[in-house]
Amino acid sequence: RLSNRLAAVASFVDAGAVVADIGSDHAYLPCFLIHTGKVQKAIAGEVVKGPYEFAVKNVRREGLSDRVTVRMADGLFAIEENDAVDTVTIAGMGGPLIANILQSGKACLAHVKRIIAQPNIYAKAIREWAVLNDWTIIEEDILKEDGKIYEILVLEKGSATYDEMELLVGPRLLVTKSAVFLEKWKRELTEWNRVLASLESAEETEAIKTKKEQLTAYIELVGKV
Ligand code: SAM
Repeated sequence: RLSNRLAAVASFVDAGAVVADIGSDHAYLPCFLIHTGKVQKAIAGEVVKGPYEFAVKNVRREGLSDRVTVRMADGLFAIEENDAVDTVTIAGMGGPLIANILQSGKACLAHVKRIIAQPNIYAKAIREWAVLNDWTIIEEDILKEDGKIYEILVLEKGSATYDEMELLVGPRLLVTKSAVFLEKWKRELTEWNRVLASLESAEETEAIKTKKEQLTAYIELVGKV
């Protein structure tokens, strides 16, 4: 059974899409999309040999080798011109790593219409990347599984501007303010206050001072959620 987290990512894939799942690990997501009939063809990209081999084995075991192409490549370079990929999924990594992957492989996004990103932490990095690169956030989701809280961002081409609060917590999630969303930011506030308190007793170097200012700003912002 697919995790609720990956099932939520899959729910944002349009029927008939051609998907590239970047950092696919076991290729669970592309296999699931094919099995459900939503997608006919997918690419699974992996940069690390172990997970790449897991993906190849799993795709073969599922009998999907003709539908899921597994490639060993760095980020979006798993996408080739002839694939006609229109949807990119990229899940289970930190926001800054996802933003880095999007940035360094931008040229491969020419025909891509939708990016579905599921950062484990710091989704802000992806929202900032989106604004700078003319992608807009059309949908967001937040869910809790096994005690962990995950955000999902759905991007399509288009320009948008977001204020600091929207960049941090998500423009769509902020409108909905679900129970999980409120729990996430309550948790973050507790953690930031704890870190801030521990920094109070540290010697105030320039770096510590900057960190304290940043935390104080976040605490003030999220206090308004
Ligand atoms: N996407 C799956 C999920 O959400 O369950 C797997 C997540 S796993 C924690 C992250 C995967 O991303 C790892 O298998 C790692 O090898 C891969 N990865 C990290 N950086 C990558 C990159 N630049 N290009 C392709 N894959 C990458």
